[in-house]
Amino acid sequence: MEQTASLVLATKNKGKVREFKALLRHYPVRILGLDDFGPTPEAEEDGTTFEENAYKKAAFFSRILGFPALADDSGLVVDALDGAPGVHSARFGGPDLTDADRCRLLLEQLSGNPNRKAAFECVLSLAVPTGQALTYEGRCEGLITHHPAGSGGFGYDPVFFCPALSKTFAEASDQEKSRWSHRGKATAELQAEFDKVLIWIRQQMPRPPRAGCMERPC
Ligand code: IMP
Repeated sequence: MEQTASLVLATKNKGKVREFKALLRHYPVRILGLDDFGPTPEAEEDGTTFEENAYKKAAFFSRILGFPALADDSGLVVDALDGAPGVHSARFGGPDLTDADRCRLLLEQLSGNPNRKAAFECVLSLAVPTGQALTYEGRCEGLITHHPAGSGGFGYDPVFFCPALSKTFAEASDQEKSRWSHRGKATAELQAEFDKVLIWIRQQMPRPPRAGCMERPC
């Protein structure tokens, strides 16, 4: 009989866990969070690309927990800052700043600069314990505003103007944002081929020995 595949969401962010669970609710997969395993160590996030960091997290948790694991890494890439803050988006300006402080710092660094081009990027990595992985990417291009606008979202949303929506991400509804956002695009790609992903997971995961195989050839 086919076993239901299990998938660990390799994130401690409750919002992301909720988002992924909702997204995959119609598939025959048991979704587990890191909370289901008790205390787990932190994964290293010292890569120089989103892909490297997403893979590091997915591969680490898959290896230590023995299940396929899905991780994401994302951030803001600003043209006039040579791609900064990039993989350092969460810590831009130091660990103690608030999201609003980081937005302010970004606006200061771009002050007087007419080049406002930026993009949000997201990479999803789905790894199995042997280290094999599938990768999905999403990118959303936009412009950095001159002043924050809107109260929704998080991170750099108030200063990221999305041309397709004619407003900042912080002024958009969750639904509007996920249609155009980097994370929305990457997850849509994963979702589009999730049936095949489940087959791939079953092929990659070691099978438990069948009962009786130890005593006689089967
Ligand atoms: P992570 O993928 O959760 O590690 O996100 C890294 C950082 O990138 C976040 O802390 C935010 O500062 C920024 N970021 C990623 N995605 C978004 C988004 O959708 N809106 C605003 N900021 C984001």
